[in-house]
Amino acid sequence: MENKKVIIIGSGPAGHTAAIYASRANLSPLVIEGHEPGGQLTTTTDVENFPGFIDGIQGPELMESMKKQAQRFGTEYINDFVSKVDLSSRPFSLSTQSGQEFSADTLIIATGASAKYLGLPNEKELIGKGVSACATCDGFFYRDKIIHVVGGGDTAMEEATFLTKFASKVFVLVRRNVLRASKAMIDRANANQKIEFIWNSTVEEILFDDSGVTGVKIKNSETAVICERKTDGLFLAIGHTPNTSFLENQINCDDHGFIETLGIHPDTDIPGVFACGDVQDSYYRQAISAAGSGCMAAMRSEKFIEENPL
Ligand code: NDP
Repeated sequence: MENKKVIIIGSGPAGHTAAIYASRANLSPLVIEGHEPGGQLTTTTDVENFPGFIDGIQGPELMESMKKQAQRFGTEYINDFVSKVDLSSRPFSLSTQSGQEFSADTLIIATGASAKYLGLPNEKELIGKGVSACATCDGFFYRDKIIHVVGGGDTAMEEATFLTKFASKVFVLVRRNVLRASKAMIDRANANQKIEFIWNSTVEEILFDDSGVTGVKIKNSETAVICERKTDGLFLAIGHTPNTSFLENQINCDDHGFIETLGIHPDTDIPGVFACGDVQDSYYRQAISAAGSGCMAAMRSEKFIEENPL
C-alpha cells in the first residue's frame, strides 16, 4: 500500500488550497478529487467575489487554475472517490471506489457540502438559468426581478434578506405555517418590506422557457389548491448536506453532520486528521473562506508531521 505524508480528500477551493500549501512545504500531497472535481463552484458561472479578479472569473476556470497551481509544486491528483477510511491508528488507511488503497500520515478532509435540491424535473438543468442554491453567488443577477426562495430556516431568512438588495420582491415559500429560523433572523425578514411569506406551500413544478425560469407551480398543503406564480428566480435554501458518509461516524460531527473542528483551527477530534471548507462550515460557505481554511489545514498538517514523525 502506497504511503503519503498528506492525503487531501476533495478538490474544491479548500482542497486545492491545502494542496498548494502542502506541496510548497515539500509534503508531496495526493488529492483524491471525488465525484465532482472542483466542487460546488463548477456548478456556478460567474464568480465575482473571489478577490483578485477585477472582472470576475468563471467557477470552473478558477478551480482549474488552482489545480494547475498545486500541480506546479508537485501535487498528484487522482480522479477517484474515497469509499472507506480507517482512522483508528496512524498511518490512516483509505480505499477508493476503483479499488486503490493508500495510507497517510495526515489526512485533510475537504469534501464540501452539497446543497439540497427539491428533486423536481429540470431543476438541475435550470441551475444558472433561474435556479440557484446560493444567493451570495447569484443574487447580483436579479436586479429589479421577482424571486421566490424556498425554505424556512436561517439560510432562507438570510438569503431572502440578502436578495432584497437586488430584487424588487422576494417571496418565501414555506412548506409549513411556521418558520424553523431563529427569532432574530425572522424579525429581520419580517421588517423587510420587500419580503412576503407564502405559507403551507410546496413547489410542484418549475415553469420555464428558452430564456430560463418563468414561474413556479405551487400547492397549498392545507387546501390542496394549486396555483402558478411568475418568478424570474427560484432560490433553494432547504439546507446543505455535508459529504461525510464515507467517514462512517469515525469523526465528531455536529447535529447537522458537519465535522466539528477546534475553534478557529482545522483540527478534528482525531490527531492528524484535519477538516476544511464547507464540510466543517455551515455558516460562511464561501470559496474564499474555504480556501483560507484549506491553507490552515495544510499548515497544521505540516506542523503535526514535524512534531509526530512516524
Ligand atoms: P435548516 O435545516 O435549518 O432548515 C431547512 C429549511 O428548509 C426548513 O425550514 C425546512 O422545512 C425546509 N425544507 C427542507 N426540505 C424542504 C423541501 N423539500 N421543501 C420545502 N422546504 C424544505 O437549514 P439551514 O440551511 O437554514 O440552516 C442550517 C444550519 O445553519 C442551522 O443550524 C442554522 O441555524 C445555521 N445557519 C445560521 C445562520 C446564521 O446564524 N446567520 C445562517 C444560515 C444558517 P421544515 O422546517 O418544515 O423542516
